[in-house]
Amino acid sequence: MKDSHALRARIIATALAMNAQGINRGKSGNVSARTDDGFLITPSALPYEDTKPADVVAVDRGGNATGRRKPSSEWRFHRDVYAARPEVAAIVHAHSPFATALACLERGIPPFHYMIAVGGGSDIRCAPYATFGTQALSDHAVAALHGRRACLLAHHGMIAVGATLRSALALAIEVETLAEMYWRAIAVGEPALLPEDEMARVVARFEDYQA
Ligand SMILES: [Zn+2]
Repeated sequence: MKDSHALRARIIATALAMNAQGINRGKSGNVSARTDDGFLITPSALPYEDTKPADVVAVDRGGNATGRRKPSSEWRFHRDVYAARPEVAAIVHAHSPFATALACLERGIPPFHYMIAVGGGSDIRCAPYATFGTQALSDHAVAALHGRRACLLAHHGMIAVGATLRSALALAIEVETLAEMYWRAIAVGEPALLPEDEMARVVARFEDYQA
């Protein structure tokens, strides 16, 4: 996609929707979209309400930023996910409460519910902890997203990716919903897990719907 005013406006709208939908608060989290020569990402340290299209930062594939603002401190994992995953065109990163609470226990989400397959596989992994903004965190995130469209980040938050901003945001909301259900289930007992062959059937169905 071309860097355009419209795309920049859609990135801001997605970031605002993230907060309105309750999966993020304040200015933690960030949103990006792939462009022809890199990606556009929400700026660092600016509330989304005050962000204008010209504040969205263009970052090229080498990690060089242009614009009047600094890119979100997490630009590295956005760059590396786009490099590793040609099918991904949008990334949503949030510190959503339930997903982050599980991530603070260093727990991913196992197949306790068939909807786990929206993430592209039979679980949603939790990437090991590394300091925010570092290459180590980016490497962990890319590995946890292998064969998946979402992951948790230990002691930090979650990432959801998609072919569009709309699908990445919808997935982030779904992951937070699943995290809340799992949280509630494990508060009462240990939920039984769906077997691998059943999850494989559900994943295949989901890929069918999306095709
Ligand atoms: Zn973060």
